[in-house]
Amino acid sequence: MLADDLRTLDAGEVYTDTPTLEHYSTDASLFRMAPAVVVAPRSVDDLKKLVQCVVKKQASGENVSLTARAAGTCMSGGSLTESVMVDFTKHFNTIGEVEGEAEGTPAIAAEPGVYFRDLEKVLNEHGLMFPSYPASKELCAVGGIVSNNSGGEKTLAYGKTAKYVRELHVVLSDGNEYVIKPLTAAELEQKEALPTFEGELYRHLHQLIDLHYDIIESARPKVSKNSAGYALWDVWDHKTFDLTKLITGSQGTLGFVTKAKLGLVKPKPYRRLFIVYLKDIHHLASLTEEILTFKPESLESFDDHTFKLAVRYFPSLLGHMHANMFTLGLRFIPDLLRMLFRGVPKLTVLIELTGEQTTELDERVGKLADMLHREQVPHHIARTEGAMEKYWAIRRESFNLLRHRIKNRQTAPFIDDIVVRPETMSEFLPRLSRILDDYKDLMDYTIAGHIGDGNFHIIPLMNLHDPESRAAIRKLANEVYTLVFEFGGSMTGEHNDGLMRSPYLEQMFGPTVCNLFKQVKDLFDPHGIFNPHKKVGGNLEYSFAHLKQ
Ligand SMILES: Cc1cc2nc3c(=O)[nH]c(=O)nc-3n(C[C@H](O)[C@H](O)[C@H](O)COP(=O)(O)OP(=O)(O)OC[C@H]3O[C@@H](n4cnc5c(N)ncnc54)[C@H](O)[C@@H]3O)c2cc1C
Repeated sequence: MLADDLRTLDAGEVYTDTPTLEHYSTDASLFRMAPAVVVAPRSVDDLKKLVQCVVKKQASGENVSLTARAAGTCMSGGSLTESVMVDFTKHFNTIGEVEGEAEGTPAIAAEPGVYFRDLEKVLNEHGLMFPSYPASKELCAVGGIVSNNSGGEKTLAYGKTAKYVRELHVVLSDGNEYVIKPLTAAELEQKEALPTFEGELYRHLHQLIDLHYDIIESARPKVSKNSAGYALWDVWDHKTFDLTKLITGSQGTLGFVTKAKLGLVKPKPYRRLFIVYLKDIHHLASLTEEILTFKPESLESFDDHTFKLAVRYFPSLLGHMHANMFTLGLRFIPDLLRMLFRGVPKLTVLIELTGEQTTELDERVGKLADMLHREQVPHHIARTEGAMEKYWAIRRESFNLLRHRIKNRQTAPFIDDIVVRPETMSEFLPRLSRILDDYKDLMDYTIAGHIGDGNFHIIPLMNLHDPESRAAIRKLANEVYTLVFEFGGSMTGEHNDGLMRSPYLEQMFGPTVCNLFKQVKDLFDPHGIFNPHKKVGGNLEYSFAHLKQ
């Protein structure tokens, strides 16, 4: 019935065949959920028709909703649905021209179905960078980067996606497309005067934020990165009213993003990479604090499990590095020898320093090397692109290797993105280890992360056929999140809430703030057509009823 109605509507290609539904029933999360129908709209007009049709169906009591999907690599289940899946990768893949280069404010507009790897090629031709790319940059697309408020290895120095979103085109629940960008107080007043859905939205949201300003401000997570909840605290500073901050990271729960104008930066021309080997993590917090004083562009890490995995699946890793296998293979020989003679380090830390001039950069490099010698921390410095690339490949590809290479056990991302303030790591990490140790019979795990931001990706490997392991997931998630909240952290720095974490939002933010989130959702989406169970209405029973087998 639904598929027939959508075919009659003629709002894009409609798919109900089993292979297609099967393909769209997973992302990179723990969950599996088959959509009833997949639609690939060809234009903004198709999207408008879809929205109007689904609003009508909801009004007549049919339980139908719309979930946007870009590349489907979400680790929280944000892009899964049992209703209508809207695929943006088939037709929303136009990249605009780079603009603002002469003025020193370069930006580029891209549609949500543009794969980041294609955007990056265009940016490289201009010597520009979108600095908030995630480790999944070869797989993911613009719609997901914006809607998850993604971050990555450059976030420490440059910040997350929300900082680079200059303007969004969005189809809202009234079936119209709007341009959303930062407004001055005078522009806000003009918007509020409109006798339309848009005017109502600005009026009510402005009121809501003004009325609860202090509560909203105190809910702002006290960590350097966060993708949990709606970022109400970034919308209005009494000078600028910036709705892009709310839509970015909202996982398609407030509307469909149809175009994003993204700010760009010129990468620094020179870089050096320190590879630091730690036997244990006792001094990680104090060492991190010291390293941060050298203003690294990236401060990343991966653990011994990740290292061993990279060695074990060496050919596959090389395959991701797009270069001559033989030469790359040779480059790993020193690392293999190091492992053979000194053992695998508990943690490998990557510190990237960048600069505009080599003299200034090498001076900083020298000072950092002195500090590491003083602290007796083993390390070496990679100075060429080739020497650096292999370590970045291990860091970026670790989760992908786990997903595709490990047999009998599956990656179970449910505590995959926790964040605490770096200065609390020395107290936090031992307590986290003790919790994880209690589950060691049921899982192995790898830890990689953005330690400069206190952001850790813990990826358990579990047998999801085993009822005891399945039951342990909820228990362990409860314990880890309770610990993270005790330290004033966030349960997600970049991977967002989705099916996994939306049910924990109340524990993180409290009922008052979650009630404000609900009011925001109701303002934008009064009929509840956009991506249900995410952000608002999260329900652990519902999510875990769809745990992958
Ligand atoms: C190997 C691997 C490594 C990863 N590393 C990182 C990392 O370093 N940092 C990070 O942030 N994430 C990471 N992720 C998670 C994920 O890849 C990113 O969050 C990515 O940006 C999601 O992009 P996507 O195109 O796959 O989005 P999807 O999975 O398709 O969607 C993500 C969310 O955005 C919504 N959405 C998509 N398109 C639209 C639209 N047009 N309008 C409204 N909403 C929309 C979806 O409904 C969903 O809620 C990783 C994933 C993998 C598999």
